[in-house]
Amino acid sequence: MITRRRIICSILSALCIASCSLIHPGTPERLVRVKLFADASFRMRNPRWADEARGLLEAASDYYEREFNIRLIRQSVSPWPEQERIRSTPALLARLQKEFPKQAKRDDYDLIVAFTAEGVSRYLPEGRPRVDRLGNCSQGLGNYAIVPIDKIFHYGGLTADLDVDVIALIHELAHIFGAAHVDDIDSLMNENFGYRTDIDAKNRAVIQQNKFCPFAKCNSQRQLRQARGVCREGESDSSLKTHASRL
Ligand SMILES: [Zn+2]
Repeated sequence: MITRRRIICSILSALCIASCSLIHPGTPERLVRVKLFADASFRMRNPRWADEARGLLEAASDYYEREFNIRLIRQSVSPWPEQERIRSTPALLARLQKEFPKQAKRDDYDLIVAFTAEGVSRYLPEGRPRVDRLGNCSQGLGNYAIVPIDKIFHYGGLTADLDVDVIALIHELAHIFGAAHVDDIDSLMNENFGYRTDIDAKNRAVIQQNKFCPFAKCNSQRQLRQARGVCREGESDSSLKTHASRL
């Protein structure tokens, strides 16, 4: 009898451990592999620029993991452009898309994030953070984000207050997952997000809904269409609105 009870208890324990591990809050539901780039201005002002770039992504990942069970994983950190100074985020984004086309994307990363520290005002179009597009499930999630970083960032751990540059990165990544601007002045998705840390309910639902969607990537057949400016059936690249946001 005791033996039978022990067996039942063992089975129940095993089931509990298995189910608990499945619903553990620390288990991310979505992993996003990020290729990080740092431009010349970002590298020149901080000899430990690679650590700074990793820390920025880590801080954003802490937020996404806590709020959406999405973990951002650093795939690589590289200098880019190697030497050239490009003081315009639209020009930087265009160059990024040209040199690392999503159609040629290998399977070892999902998303490219590039940091710049040229110091151009975020009130000017040339200084605004940018993404290539608002993501969605039918056409895929966004592939590129350019984020100017004003001050040298030091990762402070899970309990650190969010730096405004990290909030800018979180805001842009939300666009990658399909979140759009809102008039709600308390939302991090307001165009003037400042130090806001909460995303409004509607955009939270969008991110939750889209978080398992694939990242946009044309296959070889579509690449042929891409040469004529078309990436997918019924979708022209020129119709993919380049997004700009400002503080
Ligand atoms: Zn925005």
